[in-house]
Amino acid sequence: MARPTDSESLLSDAGSFVAATASDPWLDTGVSVKITKVACQSCGANLEIEESVRFLTCRYCGSRLEVCHQPSAVYTKLLERVERTQRSTERELRLIRLERKLQRLDARWKSFEKSVSTRSKDGTLAPPGPGDAIMIRVLTVFIVLMLAVWALTDLPNLTPIILGMVAGFTGWMIASHASRRYREFESLRMRYARQRAAVRVEIDQLEREMD
Ligand SMILES: [Zn+2]
Repeated sequence: MARPTDSESLLSDAGSFVAATASDPWLDTGVSVKITKVACQSCGANLEIEESVRFLTCRYCGSRLEVCHQPSAVYTKLLERVERTQRSTERELRLIRLERKLQRLDARWKSFEKSVSTRSKDGTLAPPGPGDAIMIRVLTVFIVLMLAVWALTDLPNLTPIILGMVAGFTGWMIASHASRRYREFESLRMRYARQRAAVRVEIDQLEREMD
């Protein structure tokens, strides 16, 4: 994605910004499935499964389980117990997978953040911030005021009035795009933070079990 360098490209980029984020991996799919809680018959861990699942492997101890649906309760039947050494290997593998997931999440977010950042005067990259829109509004008000002064001192001349209207409208448009862009960026950043926290919780839980 092209890196916007000023307010104008920020405006023209607003469309592609929305399009690019729609397919990003930290967006939820929005598909809802019914989740049931069952206890692993082997290690007692609480497992959340989709209601339609019949067989599963416990993600904590690696045992093969069958899900039994009774009118009164849902429980698991042990199909195959996993040896202790195999169990800890499973946990280690799972931990590695989770840490890789975390790294992937961070890397994706970093490159996304970079792609929507603008380079400031001192050369550093800055993500969309709340100040962008404020700055544009202040600048617009300043330009409109200058043109108003011109209009008052040069009364029959319509040029400053027309220029003032054009500047005011353009500035207002660019500012609202900048503020929408910032809100979108913030909501994506929150999503990323939530997903990251969820993976961290899983890692912490797994590490506690391995101690
Ligand atoms: Zn288990």
